[in-house]
Amino acid sequence: MSYLKGLECKQCGTRYPADRSFVCLECFGPLEVRYDYSKIQSDLNPKIISQREENLWRYRELLPVTGEPITGFHSGYTPLVRSRRLAEHLGVKELYLKDDSVNHPSLSYKDRVVPVALSRGAELGYSVLSCASTGNLANAVAAHCAQAGFPCLLFIPQDIEAAKISGSLICKPKVVAMEGNYDDVNRLCAEIGDHYGWGFVNVNLRPYYTEGAKTMGYEIAEQLGWRLPDHLILPTAGGTLLPKVARAFHELTELGWAQGKCKIYSAQAEGCAPVVRALLQGLDHIVPEKPRTLAKSIAIGNPADGIYVLQEVRKSGGWGATASDGEILEAIELLAETEGIFTEPAGGTTLAATIKLLQEKRINPEESIVVAITGNGYKTLDVFESQFEVDVTLRPNLKVFREWFEAQERLAPVETPA
Ligand SMILES: *Cc1c(COP(=O)(O)O)cnc(C)c1O
Ligand SMILES: [Zn+2]
Repeated sequence: MSYLKGLECKQCGTRYPADRSFVCLECFGPLEVRYDYSKIQSDLNPKIISQREENLWRYRELLPVTGEPITGFHSGYTPLVRSRRLAEHLGVKELYLKDDSVNHPSLSYKDRVVPVALSRGAELGYSVLSCASTGNLANAVAAHCAQAGFPCLLFIPQDIEAAKISGSLICKPKVVAMEGNYDDVNRLCAEIGDHYGWGFVNVNLRPYYTEGAKTMGYEIAEQLGWRLPDHLILPTAGGTLLPKVARAFHELTELGWAQGKCKIYSAQAEGCAPVVRALLQGLDHIVPEKPRTLAKSIAIGNPADGIYVLQEVRKSGGWGATASDGEILEAIELLAETEGIFTEPAGGTTLAATIKLLQEKRINPEESIVVAITGNGYKTLDVFESQFEVDVTLRPNLKVFREWFEAQERLAPVETPA
């Protein structure tokens, strides 16, 4: 039974069948999936969902596949961590961390979008999967294609973090590094996709791919007991995640499954903040930027869906904030010190932006707040350069240790075990 009705242009509303179309022939606007919500309403409810397996396919009627999905059976349903120490530090009452840094199997939010693009791409008869990526997306495409035995070819800018390149290569895809930044790579990929007929998850499969991002919204609501948080802070790169989480909240509200109203905020790095700058300046369009930030996973200067981020943030009553590279690194450390979660610069950006929004009194500290942690810090150790040094290296000898330890002030007083 299929709940997928077709595609519709986000700009002018022209309808298309749910095939390989991805751009409106009338106005070049992006296409979005349509569903049969009355059928979903009658066949599904929160109780049924709650009894299903803890992965993103528990919401499958709201995702654009008609047959059996092929990967993602352990992706999504990541922890919504109730923060105690960070909340205390920030002086807020109810703080949660949506932790996609442990998403399976490639440790970022991209493990939500790729299983949907791959499953739908296979249904549409694509025989090669591909993407333009700042690293995490390539990792997810490589991993899910490895699991499915699906041929794949990845395009990345040459200067991304070493661990992100290795994380893809280990799955044995073909990887093409390009001179230039993500925006250059992406532009070329649109042409390559046209020419070879490959399924580029974030180009010609984009209408389906982006739907996978809704699952973060469904999960947050479900994990809060089918309630929307008062405030949600999300990082913005190409602009997929934020509008799709907004869509998820809208769907849940319309279906009558979730209560509440959520203000949504966009976080970007100061060195690449085309969307947040447009928000702050009250513009209705995005002015592309040349990225200059260590937050490479979100360094997209010309975001495909930036305009929809603007619209959804404004509709929700939210706002935006930027973070400098220094603030991003501090926030990464703060999160690890207080919650034990090691995130990459995208997560640091989001937390740093949250701190600013609290300082600017844009967010009420008495209300519920969810901060999205979208990627894992083990992939971006490079950003700390030589900062990770052990306190001391000693000969393995008790006397030597005691001499050193007893001269330390920082660690005292320590209770001696009985
Ligand atoms: C891709 C990505 C994002 C957000 O990207 P959008 O293109 O705006 O959806 C955020 N954080 C990380 C770690 C990412 O890899
Ligand atoms: Zn159109």
